[in-house]
Amino acid sequence: MGVKIAKNKISEFLRGLSEEYRVFTPSTNGVTKFAEMKNPEDVLIYPNRTDISLKPLFFPPDEVFFRFKKSDDGYDLEDNLHGLKAEKKVLFGVRNCDLRGLEVLDRYMISEFSDPYYSRRRENTVIIGITCEYPRDTCFCTAFGPLVPEKGYDLWLTDIGNYYYVDVGSETGKNLLNSLFEEATEDDRMKRDMKILSVEREINKHAHLDLCEVKRCAKHLTNAVEDPIWKELGEKCLSCGKCNFICPTCHCFDVKDVTNLDGSEGQRERVWDSCHLFSYAQTSAENFRKERHARVRYRIYDKFVFPVMRYGVYACSGCGRCIDICPADIDIRDVVRRLIA
Ligand code: SF4
Ligand code: SF4
Repeated sequence: MGVKIAKNKISEFLRGLSEEYRVFTPSTNGVTKFAEMKNPEDVLIYPNRTDISLKPLFFPPDEVFFRFKKSDDGYDLEDNLHGLKAEKKVLFGVRNCDLRGLEVLDRYMISEFSDPYYSRRRENTVIIGITCEYPRDTCFCTAFGPLVPEKGYDLWLTDIGNYYYVDVGSETGKNLLNSLFEEATEDDRMKRDMKILSVEREINKHAHLDLCEVKRCAKHLTNAVEDPIWKELGEKCLSCGKCNFICPTCHCFDVKDVTNLDGSEGQRERVWDSCHLFSYAQTSAENFRKERHARVRYRIYDKFVFPVMRYGVYACSGCGRCIDICPADIDIRDVVRRLIA
């Protein structure tokens, strides 16, 4: 049987965590995102995911790799990696789509190739998730798996009234349990299951999409290079790149050197890039993806085909952020539905 914690004990729990960890929780200054907790009493538990995903915490939009300065015998380098610490941190309030997005990002950044800047930030991260209470109309995370993930978290909370039911997902999670937690009953467990079921139903009501459909879409996509849908979407798309930048799994970046006028000093920087931008495929010889519809198609393939071939996973978490942000009203769920129609 699991454990539970009374809602009015959450602040105390967070305060205790902050003695050992940096604690990040959802917060807002107009836009909701994860930020370092200042006061446990002020932590708000939002009914659904944040506007901004976890991605910038581990892979910031821009960062300096190293600085260089001309010296008598070449260049002196100061690597920014030395200043990066693998700090112990807790992410409290992570959602299903957040965790799924992070797992995909890990595949790209620390499996086949290891990005030292990403992995340094990612080390020592404790995940405390929570089941969404009221999903957004654009959420469709359940198309990729259950609402409470099977793994990848340390503790997972589900609202069951005056308490949160707590699923323990790891040894680290188990070690976080203290006297604030109580033994859960069979009735608590049933309330948890009912809550999860009702939220899943709510998501499915809007999403009209399940894993079978996503799988059918992935299969269909390989033969749909010339489907008229791409030209139609290419006409609508503004090539703004917002869908890439907001996506928790998009991970393309550009690297550039910024120097002073005589090149005697400067820094090498990494900045996020977007496959929707015309400049993305510009090389010294040519632009190999000039047409807008080809760029729209590429992004969809990069969510549902290429990662499946390479890693056996979908690079979409069903967070719906790209749907919310697209000024052209392009809805990735509609694209999937139409491709399998
Ligand atoms: S493609 Fe859209 S729905 Fe899928 S993870 Fe990216 S932002 Fe979320
Ligand atoms: S957000 Fe919409 S309009 Fe902008 S690049 Fe993405 S699909 Fe195109």
